[in-house]
Amino acid sequence: MSAVIEGVALSRLHAPTLTVLPTGVAANVARVRASTGAAVMAVVKADGYGLGAVPIARAAVTAGATWLGVTDAADAVELREAGLTEPILAWLNPSGVDARLAHEHRVDIAVGSVEELRQLAADAAAPVRVHLHLDTGMARGGCPAEDWAELLRVARSARGRIEVTGVMGHLPRADAGDPCANAAAVRRLRQGRDAVLRAGFGPLTVHLAATAGALTDPATHFDLVRIGAGLVGIDPSETTALAGAARWTASVVHSARVPAGTPVGYGGDHVAERATHLSVIGVGYADGVPRELSPAAGVAIEGARHPIVGRVSMDQIVVDTGGTAVPRGAEAVLLGPEGGAVPSLQDWARWAGTIPHTILTGIGPRVQRSIA
Ligand SMILES: *Cc1c(COP(=O)(O)O)cnc(C)c1O
Repeated sequence: MSAVIEGVALSRLHAPTLTVLPTGVAANVARVRASTGAAVMAVVKADGYGLGAVPIARAAVTAGATWLGVTDAADAVELREAGLTEPILAWLNPSGVDARLAHEHRVDIAVGSVEELRQLAADAAAPVRVHLHLDTGMARGGCPAEDWAELLRVARSARGRIEVTGVMGHLPRADAGDPCANAAAVRRLRQGRDAVLRAGFGPLTVHLAATAGALTDPATHFDLVRIGAGLVGIDPSETTALAGAARWTASVVHSARVPAGTPVGYGGDHVAERATHLSVIGVGYADGVPRELSPAAGVAIEGARHPIVGRVSMDQIVVDTGGTAVPRGAEAVLLGPEGGAVPSLQDWARWAGTIPHTILTGIGPRVQRSIA
């Protein structure tokens, strides 16, 4: 929106905005479904990898995901209250499991230790659906193989309060894109599942793979694949081009022409080599722009990539637009799915020396959320 006052085009400023692109999520679910016969769980932990658990879950379900995954039963309640009726699994429950809430909202709970299962059985007044979580080689949660038999004994004695409906593991090295790296975990999960069946439980939903395993190793798929990163366009195995699912924009809040030799930002680390135009964008490290960035980092304005210069401030970055005078109010695109001048999540990860996940989940609460 712009107005012309005394010959100067004035554009209205727009708040920094992160827009979820459901079509990107849908394309990614379709891509995963093309690589497996297993059911797809949409993992929307960490508020849907920073994009919003409810919109990501809705888009994934519309595209054919039939399960939802979260870390905490309280997150599951948010999905239920938004009207999502698919089965939901909560696996970390960092503040413990509320057995009544799990029963009432039909949340399956992953349990990875004898102690947790005893506690849940003691708390459950009405049946709670449980997926037994075996440590398949990660040593980050999951029941050690040597305690599995005891876990099954506790589950048997808690029949009526505990209903065993699934068995899960997690792959420590699926991002290697190398099936050999997963073989031991697949073997362990099969053995664990067989013991559960022998103990008289079933039918079971058995699951091991996340995005990387789903895209690279069919032996890991079992009944269900748990897709989080893949929904939002991240393939940890770097074998598959997925669709971007977010656009991050902010306004140019100030523009100036500066002479050669002008120091830019705190410390004056960057000095303009020649006369140029600078544009200030109203986002900074408090909004999730990484403070450590390679000089290659840039944003798109009016279809061209321009480098970020000087230090990233708390609320601002400065962009060198060279010969182009950019009006205040112009839109800068920090992130988008289209490629070309528009940076991708993978670009940001490379510039910041990190993984794409931390860029998305790091986008701060001041950035308004919207859905395309
Ligand atoms: C986060 C998580 C997933 C999803 O992993 P992605 O690589 O993001 O697809 C699956 N399973 C468990 C147990 C997780 O913690």
